[in-house]
Amino acid sequence: MIDSHCHLDSSRYDEDRDALLERAWAAGVRGILSIGIGEGPETMHRALEISREYAGRPETPRIWASAGIHPHEARLADEAAYVKLDGLLEEPEVLACGEIGLDYFYDHSPREEQKAVFTRQMEIAAGRRKPIIIHCRPSQNSADAWDDTLAMLRTQWGRTGLGGVLHCFTGEERHAREAMGLGFLISFAGNITFPKAQAIRDAAAAAPLDRILIETDGPFLAPVPNRGKRNEPGWVKEVAVTIGGLRGMDPEAVAAQTSVNFGALFHPETISGSTDLHG
Ligand SMILES: [Zn+2]
Ligand SMILES: [Zn+2]
Repeated sequence: MIDSHCHLDSSRYDEDRDALLERAWAAGVRGILSIGIGEGPETMHRALEISREYAGRPETPRIWASAGIHPHEARLADEAAYVKLDGLLEEPEVLACGEIGLDYFYDHSPREEQKAVFTRQMEIAAGRRKPIIIHCRPSQNSADAWDDTLAMLRTQWGRTGLGGVLHCFTGEERHAREAMGLGFLISFAGNITFPKAQAIRDAAAAAPLDRILIETDGPFLAPVPNRGKRNEPGWVKEVAVTIGGLRGMDPEAVAAQTSVNFGALFHPETISGSTDLHG
């Protein structure tokens, strides 16, 4: 399995990162995309550091990184942050720009600022030829952030042909369909196991098998039966089990197919085994 989205740089993992990576390996996780948003632009390089720290370690999943400015921190984006992002995206272990997008649920940054920072990051990612990982959360009982995100992807991203991921998908089926038309994969997280998440399960049952990914979004959103606890990469298995149940497939088949999908989008094999990268 590949956990396509985990905040491995979270301080909540500082005490036992080695142990939880061993547990992930034992659970069958062979790769983790560590999301490099840090606690803001200042620390968005931490995911890459972790990727290099663990490269080549036996019985530990391969760790890749992303880099980006989360919409929550859009108000902290300045020229120095964009220069830093551009430099990180040049690194071979940094597979994607993200998570970037729009969050109208918390509105931690003004919406116009979120849009401007999202746009600028798409330009930088396009320049480095890296896919993007989208975070999108609308305000309560609304599709507002989906409408804006998809409009921006349509006008600015579709033509790049680089694609990306809608991470922790919670939208409606029509949003998934439109994004897939723009070259996106749909990634499902631990919240697919929550009793009230029928809409997410419907989307996961309807999406073509070659367009889905699985993720934990750890340390957040631990799946049932560990809901409420700190999430960790080994628990991505629960997502594979749930999707398998929805589609009448073995979890192993879901794991294998989502790993193939991950490879087709990010091409991580071009750097796998190159432990000299951090020498
Ligand atoms: Zn997110
Ligand atoms: Zn995340």
